[in-house]
Amino acid sequence: MWRLARVLRPGLAGRGGAGRAMAEGPGPGPGPGPGPGGGSRRPRGVPRHVWARERRRGAGAALGGPSTVYAQVVAAGGRDAGASVFVFSEFNRYLFNCGEGAQRAMQEHRLKISHLDCVFLSRLAWANVGGLPGMILTLKAMGLQRCVFLGPPKLQNYLKAIRLFPGPLKRMDLAMQLHTELEYKDETMTVHQIPLIGKPLDAESMFPQSPGLSAQGENGPKGDTEPGSPRAAHPSLDEGKGRESPKETGDEQKRASRHPDLVMAFLCKIHPRKGKFLAVKAQEMGLPVGTPAILPIITALKNGESITFEGRELSPEELCTPTDPGPVFIVLECPHEGFVDAVCENETFRRYQEGLPENQVAMVIHMTPESVLRDSRYQQWLERFGPGTQHLVLNEKCSAVHNPRSYKIQTQLNLIHPEIFPLLTTYQSKEEEAVCSVPIVRGECLLKYQFRPQQEWQRDAVTVCDHDAFVAEALDLPDFQARVKECKESLPAVPEKMDAYPEIVFLGTGSAIPMKIRNVSSTLVNISSTQSLLLDCGEGTFGQLCRHYGDQVDQKLCNIAAVFVSHMHTDHHSGLMNILMERRRAFASLGQAFSPLFLVAPEQIMPWLYEYHNHCEEILRDIKMVTSQSLVKGCENIKPKVKGFVSSLLEIYDLAEFQTCEVQHCKNAFACSMIHKSGWKIVYSGDTMPCMALVKMGKNATLLIHEATLEDGMEKEAIEKTHSTTSQAIQTGMKMNAEFIMLNHFSQRYAKIPLFSEDFSEKVGIAFDHMRVRFGDFPTIPKLIPPLKALFADDIVEMEERKEKREQRLLKEAAIVLDKLAGGENEETQCQKRKQAKSPQEVSNKKLKTVN
Ligand SMILES: [Zn+2]
Ligand SMILES: [Zn+2]
Repeated sequence: MWRLARVLRPGLAGRGGAGRAMAEGPGPGPGPGPGPGGGSRRPRGVPRHVWARERRRGAGAALGGPSTVYAQVVAAGGRDAGASVFVFSEFNRYLFNCGEGAQRAMQEHRLKISHLDCVFLSRLAWANVGGLPGMILTLKAMGLQRCVFLGPPKLQNYLKAIRLFPGPLKRMDLAMQLHTELEYKDETMTVHQIPLIGKPLDAESMFPQSPGLSAQGENGPKGDTEPGSPRAAHPSLDEGKGRESPKETGDEQKRASRHPDLVMAFLCKIHPRKGKFLAVKAQEMGLPVGTPAILPIITALKNGESITFEGRELSPEELCTPTDPGPVFIVLECPHEGFVDAVCENETFRRYQEGLPENQVAMVIHMTPESVLRDSRYQQWLERFGPGTQHLVLNEKCSAVHNPRSYKIQTQLNLIHPEIFPLLTTYQSKEEEAVCSVPIVRGECLLKYQFRPQQEWQRDAVTVCDHDAFVAEALDLPDFQARVKECKESLPAVPEKMDAYPEIVFLGTGSAIPMKIRNVSSTLVNISSTQSLLLDCGEGTFGQLCRHYGDQVDQKLCNIAAVFVSHMHTDHHSGLMNILMERRRAFASLGQAFSPLFLVAPEQIMPWLYEYHNHCEEILRDIKMVTSQSLVKGCENIKPKVKGFVSSLLEIYDLAEFQTCEVQHCKNAFACSMIHKSGWKIVYSGDTMPCMALVKMGKNATLLIHEATLEDGMEKEAIEKTHSTTSQAIQTGMKMNAEFIMLNHFSQRYAKIPLFSEDFSEKVGIAFDHMRVRFGDFPTIPKLIPPLKALFADDIVEMEERKEKREQRLLKEAAIVLDKLAGGENEETQCQKRKQAKSPQEVSNKKLKTVN
């Protein structure tokens, strides 16, 4: 169930709707009365924590503020990890900003995504919202019924735009509270949204002038009245005629419609918590502790009122600890120097810098680059908070490790074959570190600041990567060392000379949503030392590139001249925006001449690109679009401009041919094939069921990279989900006479390693994230399987047990069907039986459920 009231104005919010808190007066827990539905039993299908929360709301004002509240860094702001903070209370959970990888980090570190009440977004920039598609899919998969999104006005357009993707996102209704509703309130805190208007930095320096400008005209989606169509997008281009400067007016309007100069800051005031009643002292004073007579006394004293008992006046000061007025914290993104004045001159912030005890700020979370931190105006503003305020900085100087499990697996795989499984690295920012006049704390993944009960930093959860411990753990596994030794002995002592290129780097080998071990689809093909091509580009692709190439990542980005997006499921393209933006930045930082990226993708990607470009950030100047449809063999009516793009693409990569074919998955899903002038041929399936068009296109491929989402025995599920099983993928490769087959896109149920099928041969390998394969490695790859099996022995046993259980269940189900068919009972006797013992099928179904 995923039904949310869309909240646009206060008062429109339905019963318990997302806008509940806006429409109601002060006081925590403004619930609708005695618990949801009036009953006290949890309805079926409602998760326990959701039910508990509804009941708390029902309790209304009787509830004090939360007793435990802390903020925890999810992503520390480094180049590969955005900046994102999780806030916890026993009543509510929140997330501030959700860049790519935030969901992956939360899942890895068990920060319960399903308990999120609210996601706050400070700005419509990919670094803040890039992780939302994956996050929302996860929320939906977990059955969350309500989550509120707060942020700048264009958030609404963004959430609408991501629903252009096929699949579950399309059918979802999301609750939004826009910046016009300045206050959000629930059981834990009141959040004030503070709009900050910045001055733009010099636009010319931010955007390269592109010769292949494809923003206007030919490459727009069909139909001018659709959302995202070029004319709908650029009405000013025609209308501007006759004004002093039509072009300028158009640019200004586009800019205004994107709101790049608006940032929301969040001032969060945790509700006060009443003091504790001092029972021991009350007993010493002879009060009736432990009897019903004490209750009115406790209530009055905790409410701060004096009360007379047996002629004695009792005051709250003598019998209660003082009320905690509720700490305040601020989440502030100051993206560049153009916002510094808006921050420093803001009236609301000023009120919290006057030293009033009720306005004491416990912490400011700065999502602020080093260049702003260095600004003397910003530093003075920091000082004005006084010594009682903590400052947490999340920016590019934080190079904390966010995915220790991925580092661990890679360290262990590296023991098996150091070239095929290279060690991971990190990107270090070369930005000069700011010297601040007040003490600041730099973010680390999972670093906590506790607001209640005591205000303090907590470092016990901070992630660490202990290389030696990872190695020792692998070496201790039974059989592991022996299998690695055997594997090494089976390989030639002196490695044969092999061509360094092409080299395939698997960046993401999982399906659906990014998980701790496998990120979603992305494969880098390094065609030469200076030319690379990306096959699909799921969320987190840039982060994976950073961890693979470290400080070399900028050069790598400049080498990527083209991206192929197979289809419009989010796990295949939602990392594209980040690649575009980081690529633009890389050209600038290396001082190289910018050239737009060739995007080979279904034309259905265009409405999304236009929506994002028109409402969020400028991206179209970075793209030269070649639709996948136009690369299908025999396609006619290719526009001359696209023809030109295709021939330059072939030329850049020294390719003789680049072809696509439609495959059997969702609508408009494509596979691709490239033939190099030197003779090799690489074929990539994208997502598909076994597909004859692919077999035909891939004939005699040197390497086929094929999806193998599900294990053998799950053919039925594979058909339902239009994917392939392991054996189906291998069969496709055999049919096309591929020299070697690499399997990828594994269901996340096979977190570490998929199950092997009997079809595995010396021609088949399984892909891992960060695995690096050259054609000369083909004979080696199958020999890695015994040590891999030793490394993941426990997981394989567990998966085999699951498989066995599933097979038993299927057998039982088949037996029931057979029983019914063979029973020969006529309808009448069946009816009688049903009367006697409910429905026999119901009974057996119940049994089956327990087997599951
Ligand atoms: Zn997929
Ligand atoms: Zn798909």
